[in-house]
Order: sequence, then C-alpha cells, then structure tokens
Amino acid sequence: MIQIDLTGQVAVVTGGSSGIGYATADLLLRAGASVAICGRDAARLASAEAKLRAAHADAQLLAHRCDVLDANDVNAFAHAVAERFGRTDMLINNAGQGRVSTFADTTDEAWREELDLKYLSIIRPTRAFLPMLRDAASKGDAAIVCVNSLLALQPEPHMVATSSARAGVLSLTKSLAVEFAPQRVRVNSILIGIVESGQWRRRYETQAQPGQSWEDWTGELARTKHIPLGRFGRPEEAAQALFYLATPLSSYTTGSHIDVSGGVARHV
Ligand code: NDP
Repeated sequence: MIQIDLTGQVAVVTGGSSGIGYATADLLLRAGASVAICGRDAARLASAEAKLRAAHADAQLLAHRCDVLDANDVNAFAHAVAERFGRTDMLINNAGQGRVSTFADTTDEAWREELDLKYLSIIRPTRAFLPMLRDAASKGDAAIVCVNSLLALQPEPHMVATSSARAGVLSLTKSLAVEFAPQRVRVNSILIGIVESGQWRRRYETQAQPGQSWEDWTGELARTKHIPLGRFGRPEEAAQALFYLATPLSSYTTGSHIDVSGGVARHV
C-alpha cells in the first residue's frame, strides 16, 4: 500500500459531518493532515467532531458551522481556518444533496434552488479559499476536488435538474483547472454513482417496506438500477478517490475526473 504523510498539510472538507465528507476527513486525519470540516446542522457537526476526535487522539481538527450557500458563513469559515491552521493545501467541495424530480414536477423555484446549490457550493468555497490555496501551490502542491455525479455524463429523467446542474459543474471544474493551472492549483472531480450515506439512509427510512433491512433494500435497488458491481458504493470508496486527487499522489493531474460508480457508466 502507498503511504503518504500529510503532516503539516491542511485540508478543508465542506459537508464533512456525514457520509462521503466524513469518510474523507477521517482518511485525511489518518494520513496526518490537519482537517477543517463544516456543515449546517450544529448537532450533526458536533457528533462528527466527537467521533473523529475519538478515532484520532491527536487530531488537528476544526469543526465549523457553515452553510456553503451563505457567502458570509463561507468567508467566516475560511477566516477560522486561516486563524487556526494558517494555510489550506486541499479543498474538497463535497457539501450538498440530490433532488429527485422530473421536468413535469420541477418548478422555476426548484430549478433555481438546485442550480444555486450545485454551482455556489463550489463557487463560494473556491473563491474564499483560493488565496490560501495559491499560496500553498507556490511552495508545493495545492488542489481542489469536487464531488460530482455520473449524472453529469449520464442524465436521469427522474433527476432532471440535478443531472443538468451536474453537467454544468463538470464544465465549471474544467474551466477552473485551466484558469488556475498557471498558479499550480489543480482542480479535479469524482463522478459517483450511488454511495451509501446520510441521504440514502433517510430515503431508506421513508421508502423501505416494513421490516425490510438496509442490506435487502440497497441490494434490491442495486439490481433494479443495474449496477454492474451489484451494490452501492461505500463512503470510504469515494473518499479514497478524493484523497488521491487532493494529495500530491496525483500531482500531474488536473481538469480530470475519476468514475466511482461501480461500472454504471455506459460510455467508452
Ligand atoms: P450526506 O447527506 O451523508 O452528507 C452531506 C453533507 O453535506 C452533510 O455533512 C451535510 O450536513 C452537508 N451539507 C449539505 N448541504 C450543505 C450546505 N448547504 N452547507 C454546508 N454543508 C452542507 O450525503 P453524501 O455523503 O451522499 O453527499 C456528499 C456529496 O455527494 C453531496 O454533494 C451529494 O450531492 C453528492 N452525491 C452523493 C451521491 C450518493 O449516492 N450518496 C450521489 C451523487 C452525488 P448538514 O445537512 O448538517 O449541512
């Protein structure tokens, strides 16, 4: 196994209080990085912080309440990271959730909300942390990694707004990669399929048949959704791809993406 020591490096994970973001924060702490996480719900954030501190005795960890759609919150988060750690080497834009709706049942307001969420959850943190990332890049490696979905390349009609926004965000990450390349800040993304996480746990609670186990419910969905590997992904599996793209392990990769969909992608 490749070992990498991130001691002295600082990683920021938006939406680090649950699912993929939490697993990514855990992995980065394990590699010795100082990590800052954020989320909107103070209780969920405090519980994630407690779990991470229990798992990593000497964790250099900052948990900050922040809604990535609120510019003041995001600026305050960047300020708190600067005060606490003095630098940012890696920014993982992960915060968000999907929207299940067809064209027929998506209102103008829902379209605006979805586009706001998908774009501004990347734009605002990127703008706020860019000065620190540029500074880190002038001395070594610095990277932004965005959690995107395979829907960007393979839209689903029952998630029309999310699919459309995801395609736009894939284009955005490419543009950012080109614009920031002269400053040596790399920008990449992961395209995920279905990953077990908080949002799927919540769907299970409302949609499963009485008495149906989580394993049975996800197994049946994996079959009906024709996932070639036959199961949902685990947050750790998405986190490992994020880790690769965030760290110098991928120092010559920018403007690219990794597919973490269990083989769902149909294109060559
Ligand atoms: P979870 O619900 O487990 O985690 C989402 C995290 O994001 C939580 O920490 C949540 O905390 C935080 N969050 C959500 N909205 C905001 C916001 N506006 N500001 C700050 N934090 C926010 O879900 P996942 O781990 O699955 O989601 C991670 C990312 O992966 C999301 O962007 C999601 O859209 C994407 N994705 C996930 C897929 C999957 O199958 N799991 C598929 C495709 C994409 P809080 O609610 O307290 O703010």
